[in-house]
Amino acid sequence: MDTKKILLPESEIPRQWYNIVADMPTKPLPPLHPGTHEPIGPDMLAPLFPPALIEQEVSQERWIDIPEEVRDIYRIWRPTPLIRATGLEKLLDTPARIYYKYEGVSPAGSHKPNTAVPQAYYNKLAGTTKITTETGAGQWGSALSFACQHFGLACEVYMVRASYDGKPYRKIMMNTWGADVYPSPSIRTAAGRGILAAHPNSPGSLGMAISEAVEMAVHEEHTKYALGSVLNHVLLHQTIIGLETEKQLEMAGHFPDVIVAPFGGGSNFAGLGFPFLRHHLAEGKKVRCIAAEPTSCPKLTRGVFRYDLGDAVGMTPLLPMYTLGHNFVPAPIHAGGLRYHGAGAIVSQLLHDGLIEAQAHDQLTCFAAGVQFARAEGIIPAPEANHAIATVIKEAQRCKEEGRAETIVFNLCGHGHFDMAAYEQYLAGNLVEHEVTQREINQSLALLTTPLING
Ligand SMILES: *Cc1c(COP(=O)(O)O)cnc(C)c1O
Repeated sequence: MDTKKILLPESEIPRQWYNIVADMPTKPLPPLHPGTHEPIGPDMLAPLFPPALIEQEVSQERWIDIPEEVRDIYRIWRPTPLIRATGLEKLLDTPARIYYKYEGVSPAGSHKPNTAVPQAYYNKLAGTTKITTETGAGQWGSALSFACQHFGLACEVYMVRASYDGKPYRKIMMNTWGADVYPSPSIRTAAGRGILAAHPNSPGSLGMAISEAVEMAVHEEHTKYALGSVLNHVLLHQTIIGLETEKQLEMAGHFPDVIVAPFGGGSNFAGLGFPFLRHHLAEGKKVRCIAAEPTSCPKLTRGVFRYDLGDAVGMTPLLPMYTLGHNFVPAPIHAGGLRYHGAGAIVSQLLHDGLIEAQAHDQLTCFAAGVQFARAEGIIPAPEANHAIATVIKEAQRCKEEGRAETIVFNLCGHGHFDMAAYEQYLAGNLVEHEVTQREINQSLALLTTPLING
């Protein structure tokens, strides 16, 4: 009988993160200054990030050491289990082997602490006393609050207004770890005041909240900013997920045919996928990595590959990304963590080069998949993770049609315990299908004046 749950001892927590840039056939394009459109040097990021993170952001080294202080905190919840979804396999009557890496066992309930902890650590080393950030669904804000608390740093969180109102317990979780939380747009920043003047009832967006957090970091001393996705150093930290999974699958005697993860800015997708893609790039060992995104925010499947801002008002560098435009305000679907307009530079380049794939799913399909999973496996997934499950079900059905016993591995990147209001709406039949129209995408993209990418 196959093992249901593959566990690693603490001593097997990886000692290095994997940097895929070292193995990419086309390196990611550099960030550009939003005013001059010239490539920016690492020094331009200094007001926002401590030196060690800037170094990682531009690093081409393949392996980067995980500090012992960080590994020590990881031990609270890592290594995370890899679980065989035997119940789901049976339900789908598929010959495929389905495994999920469960990141919901972290204190904050998702993969986000994997990067929050090293980010807080490197800030502490550099003499930072406060970190500002944004949060959408509340996962990143909780993770950073937890990490800052560990290192005695103050934490100030700008929470997208729609989530602030809809998910009060996420806010209280952050407060419990000692963070200050403000609804965004707020009157605390010039960016927030400007947005509120034009749209007094703005539900907020991640782009707006980033503008506020960045503005605060730039203007206050010993204050830095932290981002929970998109950037190269964030993806790097998350590779601990895939590196552990690699060891666990080896114990089971398998190499994945298909890797699936939900996609917001790309960090948990990269985290699970890149260590396997490494074998693909270096040894030609074929693996399909599929990013699952919502049809209401489909930057990978329907966006364009060009330079765009990371935020709403232009406080950040221009990044080469698949984007729907930085002014894009996604519909308030329940997968808050996937409502970001763009994808990180590395993932965007890999998609452009055909080395990874993407699929978009409607929220009804995703909740149906999530409920199926909860009933078959027990764990109630975060709405973001439901996007991955929708893809997994599709792939498992394909395996059945083709009679192929493929190994499918997906990231169950968080639990859905703070998302009961969303499940309630789904179960009551109140959720509607949502797909952004081409007209909405065109309108948002038409506002872009940022440089195009050739090729
Ligand atoms: C933040 C988040 C995401 C999306 O962010 P990525 O950087 O794409 O991983 C997905 N799922 C959960 C549970 C999240 O908290």
